[in-house]
Amino acid sequence: MLKVEHLKLSYGAIKALHDINLQVARGSIVTLIGANGAGKSSVLHSISGTVNNKQGNILLDGVNINHLKAHKIVERGLVHVPEGRHIFTSMTVKDNLKMGAYIRSDEAQIKLDMKHVYDLFPRLYERRRQMAGTLSGGEQQMLAIGRALMAKPKLLMLDEPSMGLAPLLVKEIFNIIKDINKLGTTILLVEQNANMALSVADYAYVLEVGNITYEGKAENLLGNSNLKKAYLGKA
Ligand code: ATP
Repeated sequence: MLKVEHLKLSYGAIKALHDINLQVARGSIVTLIGANGAGKSSVLHSISGTVNNKQGNILLDGVNINHLKAHKIVERGLVHVPEGRHIFTSMTVKDNLKMGAYIRSDEAQIKLDMKHVYDLFPRLYERRRQMAGTLSGGEQQMLAIGRALMAKPKLLMLDEPSMGLAPLLVKEIFNIIKDINKLGTTILLVEQNANMALSVADYAYVLEVGNITYEGKAENLLGNSNLKKAYLGKA
């Protein structure tokens, strides 16, 4: 579904990505893991068209989306939930969700999809009239994912959904990610929490200072402490 070929990205003099090649198969969960500053977010920003000056090819269903503006990429079904959530804090939960559907005009279906988001996240339903800025960190993360789902993505890219969340909530978010995938959305997941990410993913890429240094089935990496130690610095 998604193919990234020879992706390179610099921020001025800083070379953040050297030569990234990766693929995401339809229906799968693929994770991109690595330490702070490895370039994980930069890969997602390059794919979603939210950084300039990248080089290489990004193919979505065989079509080169390299030069498309970010909103055109959303219209093609590729939606990015960036690190840090970026919800509209002075709008209600419900209005945030409505904003997620801004590219759509199928009102009846939008209503059904909102119900679907509330089924996935009952807590958002309970708080639908609350200002988003007053939600807890975990609830804001749920809202960011729910809002992305309102665009009806074929491919959802999540950047560190577990960041700053208590362990129980991390589990809940990862269970929901699995559910979203089971319902038909392909997922590219960036995480520092390698164990959690590998436990839900089908396939994994390890990124180290702008290079992919390992790729393989997630279960191979999860079950092999030598591999984990070599690539992630921990067993
Ligand atoms: P983290 O897990 O800490 O979020 P990451 O793996 O997502 O890290 P990136 O945020 O992609 O890494 O950053 C990769 C490199 O590019 C880092 O060295 C970072 O300092 C640099 N970088 C990222 N964004 C910018 C920017 N806008 N301007 C300059 N340098 C940047």
